[in-house]
Amino acid sequence: MLSRRVDHFVESVIRDMTRLSLKHDAINLAQGFPDFPAPDELKRAAASPILEDYNQYSITWGAKDLREEVSRKAFEYNHIEADPETEVTVTCGSTEAMMASMLAIINEGDEVVVFEPFYENYGPDAAVSGAIPRFVPLNDDSSINEEALVSAFNKKTRALILNTPNNPAGKVFTKDELKLIADLCVEHDVIAVTDEIYEYILYDKRKHVSIGSLDEMKDRTITISGFSKTYSVTGWRIGYVLAGRTLTSAIRKVHDFLTVGAPAPLQHACVRALGFPDSYYGELVKMYDGKRKYLYNALIKAGFKCRLPEGAYYILADIPEGVEMDDMAFARYMVREVGVAAVPGSSFYRSGVGKHKLRFTFSKKDETLQEAARRLEGLSI
Ligand code: GLN
Repeated sequence: MLSRRVDHFVESVIRDMTRLSLKHDAINLAQGFPDFPAPDELKRAAASPILEDYNQYSITWGAKDLREEVSRKAFEYNHIEADPETEVTVTCGSTEAMMASMLAIINEGDEVVVFEPFYENYGPDAAVSGAIPRFVPLNDDSSINEEALVSAFNKKTRALILNTPNNPAGKVFTKDELKLIADLCVEHDVIAVTDEIYEYILYDKRKHVSIGSLDEMKDRTITISGFSKTYSVTGWRIGYVLAGRTLTSAIRKVHDFLTVGAPAPLQHACVRALGFPDSYYGELVKMYDGKRKYLYNALIKAGFKCRLPEGAYYILADIPEGVEMDDMAFARYMVREVGVAAVPGSSFYRSGVGKHKLRFTFSKKDETLQEAARRLEGLSI
């Protein structure tokens, strides 16, 4: 009665943990969204278009002024040239951007290279679009295993999914690593689909590099980002895709019939977001850097083993030694008995490595993190 497609994936574990967290009144360090307010200026910029009656569809591929601002930002920040008329598509979050892109380029049986650990959505994205994922584990220190990467490419490889800064490991790909990936993409005629939703959240003066800015990748990159994380508006569901004209026209076709378009009034507010001064982004990093160090210390104190992430707002931690439970059982135990929700590591791995890990987010108010730290102190192993 149901399609075979849906047999290949389960419901989001991340969102399941949020529901479990609510049920047990736990502190939700599972789902990556802020529990603090969005910037005031943005909230006002979202309310007024509704009152001024911008309440009907925008152009399917995005309001013109937003596409123009996205194009300007892409040029200045990502060093990518994208014509707002033909190479920018506004979507319902980067989640839709990723799915629309995959549906636009994948034929049944094509292979897609995915680094492991990976963001939970990429598995279902592959299943729905008919792709066969080829997972390439990163080394323990998050560097690329070159041999494994090279051997993942073959005649069937159609695309490589990149996520930098990476969720859940916090890895930021360096320019040299991106060049290695680019060389392989060129050699095997592969498209890079790159999810850069955390592009402004990098620590210790790291710089974001978009693979689409490398000369050889200009016509074979689909660059995806959005407003959720940078501007703390995850519920608005506004993202976008930058891609060459031919790729964009295919992506726009899929996007049109999937969603018609992203919420029109919120697109107006996003134009305002792109006008924020440089200081906004500096403050954002400073804020998350403090939270990153705080949660890291609390996890170490509670017996977890982890490293400070280089970017994004998650810590992927090894379950403390002495715990006999696997990640699923331990995550449930933590919600019920400790009152802190995290995501079981197996959501991010095809291999068994994830069974020994939990992912925590620090995209929360300081008070929330302090209460989580207090509860974690009570973790008796
Ligand atoms: N990207 C966020 C996370 O990894 C939120 C996931 C979601 O629910 N869309 O937690």
